[in-house]
Amino acid sequence: MAYFDENTLIYHDGQWLEATAAVTGLYSQSLHYGYAVFEGIRAYATESGPLIFKAEAHYRRLQHSAARLHIPCKYSVEELTAITYTLLEKNKLSDAYIRPLLYVRMPNMGLKPSAEANLLIVAWQWGKYLGDKLLHMTLSPYERPNPKAFHIDAKASGHYVNSITASFEAQQRGFDEALLLDAQGFVAEAPGANFFMEKDGRLLTPTTDNILNGITRQTIIELAQQRNIPVEECRIRPEEILQADSAFLTGTAAEIAPIGAFENYTFPKSFDQSLGAVLYADFLQLVRQQPQMQTI
Ligand code: PMP
Repeated sequence: MAYFDENTLIYHDGQWLEATAAVTGLYSQSLHYGYAVFEGIRAYATESGPLIFKAEAHYRRLQHSAARLHIPCKYSVEELTAITYTLLEKNKLSDAYIRPLLYVRMPNMGLKPSAEANLLIVAWQWGKYLGDKLLHMTLSPYERPNPKAFHIDAKASGHYVNSITASFEAQQRGFDEALLLDAQGFVAEAPGANFFMEKDGRLLTPTTDNILNGITRQTIIELAQQRNIPVEECRIRPEEILQADSAFLTGTAAEIAPIGAFENYTFPKSFDQSLGAVLYADFLQLVRQQPQMQTI
């Protein structure tokens, strides 16, 4: 996957730089300790140009993540959004994945927060992260980070060490993706996406205490409510998945990703016939609507 080429421009601390020439610090807390926060955002092509989906919610979350980790963020949501539109324009991107990273480049091998942070925003064209085929998921031997050890509502770079190891472990056993539990043994989420299952015309999804409460997750819940589809945020035991009619993941990179099977259990409903497919169609319409037209 080529994320950039010789024409790619990136935003870095107020400057537009060529991606191929950009450098960073090798003695930084971000590199050594994963001390940084980031966002994953998508823009969608529309007749009036690229439209960033829920830019405000994403950049508010970036600010929130930064505050949680004591990383200063001197940019407003409006500034961040304006920079991102310019980035898309400069790179002639319309359907794009956008990756802002607020990190600390200054040499500092200590464990105290730094007074200054650096902002990088890059974008590239990226298809659905988990692809379109039905996923075969497995229960991970890894748990999600303990909310008493990490601010799990922050999208912090270091948390993704858990995601990478869990995903790789599942793939080594021949599965497409992992499903992780929380410390109490309830279903939490996938390494980079939230989990939903359908049972008897209702949607069930884990409560927010042990997950990143995804913007796509919240959007899907709202879209379901608009259609009077009951959604229950509840504690789900992994065995209960073996009684579900269908299931899917949600995330900015993954969008809505259908799950075909969990361990040896194949979901009886085909994705096309499931609530996930109905809501995915609604989602694809919503992301191309001008914000003032979006009722959610
Ligand atoms: N959980 C985790 C751990 C994630 O990394 C993501 C991706 N940001 C999500 C859930 C989904 O969040 P969103 O819908 O806001 O992209």
